[in-house]
Amino acid sequence: MRNDEARRRVREAGGEELCERLVHLDAIRAARAERQPTIELTRPDEGTTPDYDVVIAGGGLWLLVAPLLAARGLSVAVFDRARIGQAHREWNCSAKELAPLVSSGLLREDEVERLVVARYDHGVCRWHGGGTYPVRRVLDHAVDAGKLLAAVRALAEARGVALHDREAIVAHGEGPAGVALATSAGATLSARIFVDARGASSPLATADLVCPTVGGVLSGLEEGEAEDQIRPDVGEILATTEGVEEGRQHIWEAFPGKSGEVTVYLFYYALGGAPGASLVSLYARFFEKMSAYKRGDFRLVRPTFGFIPGWSRLGPGPAHGQRVVLVGDAAARHSPLTFCGFGSALRSFEGVAASITRAAEQPEGRGASVSPGDAPIHKGTGALAWLMATPPKEPARAWELNDLLDTAFATLADMGDEAYGALLRDEMSAKDFVRFLRTVAGKRPRVYRDVLGRLRLFGLGRWGFSVARELLRAS
Ligand SMILES: Cc1cc2nc3c(=O)[nH]c(=O)nc-3n(C[C@H](O)[C@H](O)[C@H](O)COP(=O)(O)OP(=O)(O)OC[C@H]3O[C@@H](n4cnc5c(N)ncnc54)[C@H](O)[C@@H]3O)c2cc1C
Repeated sequence: MRNDEARRRVREAGGEELCERLVHLDAIRAARAERQPTIELTRPDEGTTPDYDVVIAGGGLWLLVAPLLAARGLSVAVFDRARIGQAHREWNCSAKELAPLVSSGLLREDEVERLVVARYDHGVCRWHGGGTYPVRRVLDHAVDAGKLLAAVRALAEARGVALHDREAIVAHGEGPAGVALATSAGATLSARIFVDARGASSPLATADLVCPTVGGVLSGLEEGEAEDQIRPDVGEILATTEGVEEGRQHIWEAFPGKSGEVTVYLFYYALGGAPGASLVSLYARFFEKMSAYKRGDFRLVRPTFGFIPGWSRLGPGPAHGQRVVLVGDAAARHSPLTFCGFGSALRSFEGVAASITRAAEQPEGRGASVSPGDAPIHKGTGALAWLMATPPKEPARAWELNDLLDTAFATLADMGDEAYGALLRDEMSAKDFVRFLRTVAGKRPRVYRDVLGRLRLFGLGRWGFSVARELLRAS
């Protein structure tokens, strides 16, 4: 399918503004970052009182922290290049990840309950030509992302957060007393702490991996028990329908939502700087190859898409400043294997809000850096993600990655629901991770050669060191 036909179908389903967003994301990816105008800013020096305690750039998922900061007595402003609190995607998570929405005081239990549009008996991962591996208590809740963000926006407004829709932050400059900011409307302002929640398009989002993802809510797919049909009580977490094509291992996922609707995505992993990543051309593949994945005369009801950044932990990650805090996709602290930024945000937003508050309360001139926190398991899974982002290009080896994934997931299924689920929820212990690696390597001795051959020298050293350390700890 040609790109202009793919664009036409997205525009038809999602409207002009959404199609503009799709094209915008491709354009800034091609340029490697949003072009920032050169603006001379007066950096807040000692003795200056900033306009706000906290300014947040980006009112997407990480809008979650705004009402919490306001409740702690901080003055907060949020800016977004689009409308604040508008969901651009559908979200799945595991049941216990929803608990912080209640414990943080953002929502009541019955409100959270109303956000859940579907629950699954179990999820599956299946690899073409291999097996189907069920797992329980992972990504088994589909959440109405639009309603969640609308509720958080209403709460932020009620708590006095200043909301600036359709006004982008286009420049920042850090000084000892705070951060000076410029907006697309020509305004300048300052904050004690600047929270960068601009997602993948932040100029500070320097993570080394990326997961281009397209799809959205579909109707018309056939229900039934066959692999190429939809079971309303089963979430399909990862599935392949072929080996490496065009240098990429494409992966599908399908999560049933409201009755008759299913959220389907097509994605692949790539190195952050790899040329040629385009959401429009991935959409062309999505429309063209859907029939190889699921049966039915489908209609795209609501397109959702994006580039999800990932950090392999093999090199330095996106860097915070003393008073500049990166969160969400800009920081890429979520799992480099699952890219589940929603689940990761739910697990961490309360802690991040608390540390932003502490930083904002530091006297001027003092270092106020906020520790981003990171799960130890990511040191191991980052190398596996790197491997998936650099599949062998030779046609004769096109099935290798798919076969390796099949072996890996067969091993996880053998290890039991707890360990299997823990890896996908970022909770696997180092001991289990080492056991997992050893077993996969035993079944496929080439696995280490695959890993060692493809990681860059620097990354290899770090990965080898991390895994060796975990091995020692685990033994
Ligand atoms: C299609 C898709 C499906 C996904 N599904 C899941 C899932 O099921 N489960 C899961 O755990 N994770 C999922 N993720 C990942 C998850 O959605 C992201 O990790 C999460 O949304 C990141 O939140 P964020 O606030 O950092 O960025 P975003 O939610 O992307 O928000 C960034 C905001 O910044 C704004 N912005 C950009 N530039 C500027 C600027 N210069 N000034 C001001 N504002 C600006 C944007 O308009 C946007 O509103 C999915 C991602 C995609 C793309």
